[in-house]
Amino acid sequence: MQKGTINVQTENIFPIIKKFLYSDHEIFLRELISNAVDATQKLKTLASMDKVKGELGDLTIHVELDKKKKQLKVIDHGIGMTAEEIDKFINQIAFSSAEEFIKKYKGKSEADKNALIGHFGLGFYSSFMVSEKVEIYTKTYKKGGPTKAVRWECDGSPEYTLEEIDMTERGTEIILHIADDSTEFLEEYRILELLKKYSKFLPVPIQFGMEKVSEKTGKKDKDGNDEYKEVEKPRIINNTKPAWTQKPADLKIEDYKNFYRELYPMNFEEPLFHIHLNVDYPFNLTGILYFPKVKKNIEVQRDKIQLYSNQVFVTDSVEGIVPDFLTLLHGVLDSPDIPLNVSRSYLQSDANVKKISNHIMKKVTDKLEEIFKDNREEYEKKWDDIKVFIQYGMISEPKFYERAEKITLFKNVDGKYFTIKDYKKHVEKAQKDKDKKLVYLYATDKDEQHAFIESAKERGYDVLDMDGILDNHYINTLEQKFENTTFARVDADTIDKIIKKEEDQPSKLSEKDQETLKPLFEKFAKKENYSIIFESLSEKDQPVIITQPEFMRRMKDMQKLGGGMDYMGAMPDSYNLVVNSNHKLVNSILKEKDNKKQENLVKQVTDLAKLSQNLLKGQDLTDFIKRSVDIIGK
Ligand code: ADP
Repeated sequence: MQKGTINVQTENIFPIIKKFLYSDHEIFLRELISNAVDATQKLKTLASMDKVKGELGDLTIHVELDKKKKQLKVIDHGIGMTAEEIDKFINQIAFSSAEEFIKKYKGKSEADKNALIGHFGLGFYSSFMVSEKVEIYTKTYKKGGPTKAVRWECDGSPEYTLEEIDMTERGTEIILHIADDSTEFLEEYRILELLKKYSKFLPVPIQFGMEKVSEKTGKKDKDGNDEYKEVEKPRIINNTKPAWTQKPADLKIEDYKNFYRELYPMNFEEPLFHIHLNVDYPFNLTGILYFPKVKKNIEVQRDKIQLYSNQVFVTDSVEGIVPDFLTLLHGVLDSPDIPLNVSRSYLQSDANVKKISNHIMKKVTDKLEEIFKDNREEYEKKWDDIKVFIQYGMISEPKFYERAEKITLFKNVDGKYFTIKDYKKHVEKAQKDKDKKLVYLYATDKDEQHAFIESAKERGYDVLDMDGILDNHYINTLEQKFENTTFARVDADTIDKIIKKEEDQPSKLSEKDQETLKPLFEKFAKKENYSIIFESLSEKDQPVIITQPEFMRRMKDMQKLGGGMDYMGAMPDSYNLVVNSNHKLVNSILKEKDNKKQENLVKQVTDLAKLSQNLLKGQDLTDFIKRSVDIIGK
């Protein structure tokens, strides 16, 4: 038996490993299983090159738990190690790389520690986070030379022992003697949970205990239905050939859908379409991205993409790896070229990550373009579900905007879709104001703004349906990009004011008449702080209309969305009360001699205007109803 000290020069890193990541002790299992998978894959590679002869046997990796002995074992049938290799790989290389990782890690702030993705780099020695003693039993695949099996043991001090032993089977068995402060890792449910998290798609089968499954007996019951019986079978944790590792040509739509269900068993919604990524130069990237239906609440849909490195799960947040808007997609990315022991802030400056991110953005845009070109009908059908995604990208990524501008759609209130270019043609003639500026009208709530939409349509204008959560920001972006164009909500002003025409209707009220009427309206509008404006609209328009100036309303909407304008405090609503000086009723109000009657009429027309903007509430609404009944009764 040989005894030795792993490393005498440096400080003892074991205590540091022990208290390493307070919350992430669990990664030790991922590290050990990755090593077992590597050793198995190496063996398969050697066999394929004819460097290992004969049957390889069952290569399943076993994870075993012995609660009584306080042991957790990871057993593989991979290449194994010789005594020499243990000394080199475990005592020297693995130790120094763990040491190096710890050094790097120690210099980091608490926040940076948490931001280190994956925590890869600690390797085999991470087992000391949860163990008081670790043993390795291993027998190399090599024949000839010093090939006896060996046992290595270390109790978390820099001293280790190494001795030759007898072992029949090739491979490596790691035995962790779980420490008293880590007994959670002796619980079956906890290990199962970790295996499901990190090993679900590893390329070598992993068995953990047994499970009961029902199986067809091959016989039929008296009604002719299949008979089932319960049998105990090895519980295999992983799907060794997940869809993203297969060739797109070998997969059907149904396979992609099934894989989506495998990834998100709790999500019952089907994805809209998918992209299969497969690059091996100049970087390695595979994966499948799915377009989900993007809902009103985008935050809950964010960060569903799982990141893998050679089928080992790393994290379910790709923030910092892909542009923000792409985090709305679902699916899997697998790349060994994404550095895993670095913080997110570092990631964004990494050249490979930049290339990968650009590649993904390009593929996503290609896919959207492809559907747009090949199947416009389908594209339009899906538009409402992908619109938020595309708008988000256009708002936040100038590069994406450039290409997406051609495939983004406008939908009008009648449910018709247009490209930006076609829509311009559609409204260009009619919707220019007297400064030749193009005016796009839009509604954010078709029901609430119904009266205004109607009045715009009557004048031959088109109204866009902009009821999405990002439409506000989107409109701002478009205004910056489009030349000589503004957007106005249909109720931003009276429609004739929005699309200013040269020839105003002659007003039927003189200045003097207006001055007489103004205080009457002011009396009721005072409470709400409405500004009274007289306008000569058509006789067919309503006698009184309430509008909401575009600029103020947008500021308020932005504030509601948390657009960083909190310094303004809660802004008051601002409305205009527009009196139609050409309306008959307004004229009657002016002529009315009975003060009480006149007041009632002013109240009634003002309330009607409020009602059509959904502003009539509480006592005012009750009063309005009573007054209306009185009027009908007369
Ligand atoms: P890494 O896996 O990143 O190289 P580790 O510290 O986890 O670092 O492991 C160090 C080395 O020990 C491995 O590179 C490998 O050569 C060897 N090793 C670890 N586990 C096994 C195993 N189960 N079978 C064979 N060799 C192993």
